[in-house]
Amino acid sequence: MRRIFQLLLCLVIPSAPLAAAEPISVVTTTADIAAIVKAVGGDRVAVDSISKGYQDPHFVEAKPSYVRIVNRARMLFNVGLELEVGWLPLLIQGSRNPSLVVVDLSPGISVLEKPSGPISRAQGDVHPLGNPHYWLDPGNGIIMARRIAQELRAVVPGNTAEFERNLKSFENDLAGRRKRWEEQMAPFRGVELVTYHKEWEYLTKWLGLSIIGYVEDKPGIPATPRHLEELVQAMQQRKVKALLASNYTNPNVPKSVAEKTGAKLVVLASSVGGEETIQAYGDLFDSIIGKLVSALK
Ligand SMILES: [Zn+2]
Repeated sequence: MRRIFQLLLCLVIPSAPLAAAEPISVVTTTADIAAIVKAVGGDRVAVDSISKGYQDPHFVEAKPSYVRIVNRARMLFNVGLELEVGWLPLLIQGSRNPSLVVVDLSPGISVLEKPSGPISRAQGDVHPLGNPHYWLDPGNGIIMARRIAQELRAVVPGNTAEFERNLKSFENDLAGRRKRWEEQMAPFRGVELVTYHKEWEYLTKWLGLSIIGYVEDKPGIPATPRHLEELVQAMQQRKVKALLASNYTNPNVPKSVAEKTGAKLVVLASSVGGEETIQAYGDLFDSIIGKLVSALK
């Protein structure tokens, strides 16, 4: 009887599973980086993004709750090129987390508009080290993913094969989608556009579109009436068909410019999470390309 009882006990109480390693806690400055970290890190990472896809990443409030997230994190990935200069140093300093591994993803990227002279913010330019919106080219997404895999391997060496597998499937998925995006956009090569902020340069370079002007006077600086007048004239002369703006931009000024010139105002998510359906990095371009095609055709 006792033996039977022991046997039953063995059947009912499973042996303790091998302790699964806790996922490592990763914080990212943007939702695009978070999506790529999730894709590459899989179950081995728990990711939080500070800025949300519907926010302007240049201007994020350094909230105490963000300090706590950074305090608990093992790794932090950021865009760099001073995109986050207004808020990230405050969070890192406040977090008092000396073992935090901070990875700036901009080295390795071919940065557009890199200044050749002395670096200056004298005119309020929020792009003093070149254009930081490089995630808006899927080719750069691949460079970011490879770097993320390399940095994760360094911190979690036991999971190298898994990160490699995840990286490969991320790359394959993006390559398939990219072919489709390029085919969809091929008829529009050379089309002239105007944009609100200087953030679509990587996207338009990739797709062969041409930006002839900006609503903002300088990145981060609202337009003067004179600048707007000149812009409207140039757009009318060149029959510009579309004005692109991020969905976090106040639409009033771009709307009135579009109305005066007959251009279509194309409001785009510029980050993962900018719209509810944009969950993975590739979804971002599905959304952007879909809107561009319907505006330009
Ligand atoms: Zn910018």
